Amino acid sequence: MVEGKVAIVTGGTRGIGFTIVREFLKNGAKVALAGSRQETVDAALAKLAEEGFTDNVMGIAPALTDPDSVTAAFASVVDRFGRLDVLCNNAGVSSRTPLVDYTLEEFNKVMSINVTAVFVCTQAAARIMIEQGEGGAIVNTSSMVGKYGQPSGFAYPTSKFAVNGLTLSLARELAKHKIRVNAVAPGVTHTDMVDALPDSVIKPLIESIPLGRMGEPEDIACACLYLASDMSSYVSGAVLPVDGLSRP
Ligand code: NAD
Repeated sequence: MVEGKVAIVTGGTRGIGFTIVREFLKNGAKVALAGSRQETVDAALAKLAEEGFTDNVMGIAPALTDPDSVTAAFASVVDRFGRLDVLCNNAGVSSRTPLVDYTLEEFNKVMSINVTAVFVCTQAAARIMIEQGEGGAIVNTSSMVGKYGQPSGFAYPTSKFAVNGLTLSLARELAKHKIRVNAVAPGVTHTDMVDALPDSVIKPLIESIPLGRMGEPEDIACACLYLASDMSSYVSGAVLPVDGLSRP
């Protein structure tokens, strides 16, 4: 589905991002996975190598909120793979602290990685795509709580509302360059973090999901694959729910 395309996936070392990287590789893309530290990037590359993915994948570890660092890292991807077609802004952090205990530091951390990094990376990628003159696809990872809010940890949904706003606005701004900007909005997705929760939390959660199961990282990755591919060439400014209909 993405044969010959070059993609960068932030937060590509584990969880949903790692699965996006694997699905893109399986579907013919060349992929740069971005992680926060070189060691986690190297570990992710080693895991992919064990699965037989060696030639078409590389790792980068820019500071996602630093334009110079991101620009240099994205340039290294173009040096290695020749171009850039797709950016998945997937890196994100969550927090469930109640409002009365929320610190400014914690708020700034969530906004910084979930929103500022999306701006910085999208700007760096768009500059490359505009220069190439052949369009491109930006796929942001939002969340279902970016539509409905959540009862604690308000900064996380706030940041995802901002991701949706950025998605809709930049879709309009970049349309003249044939760069499409979309987002996926996952519901609760089966990653390590969810595995660590006790059955007493997981069971009622699953029972509340109309499609009767939790989302798997592959569910989210396949939606990203569609939005990155030419199959969605007439889709831009969409925030696609991938949540098993688990909406209040
Ligand atoms: P995860 O914690 O397993 O992975 C998060 C990724 O972001 C990691 O690769 C991590 O290295 C990267 N990251 C975090 N802070 C970073 C920083 N400062 N600099 C660079 N990279 C950083 O989480 P996940 O569940 O795979 O989440 C991926 C995305 O999906 C996030 O944007 C998250 O908000 C979103 N999401 C997850 C769920 C879920 O239930 N798992 C639901 C809705 C949305």
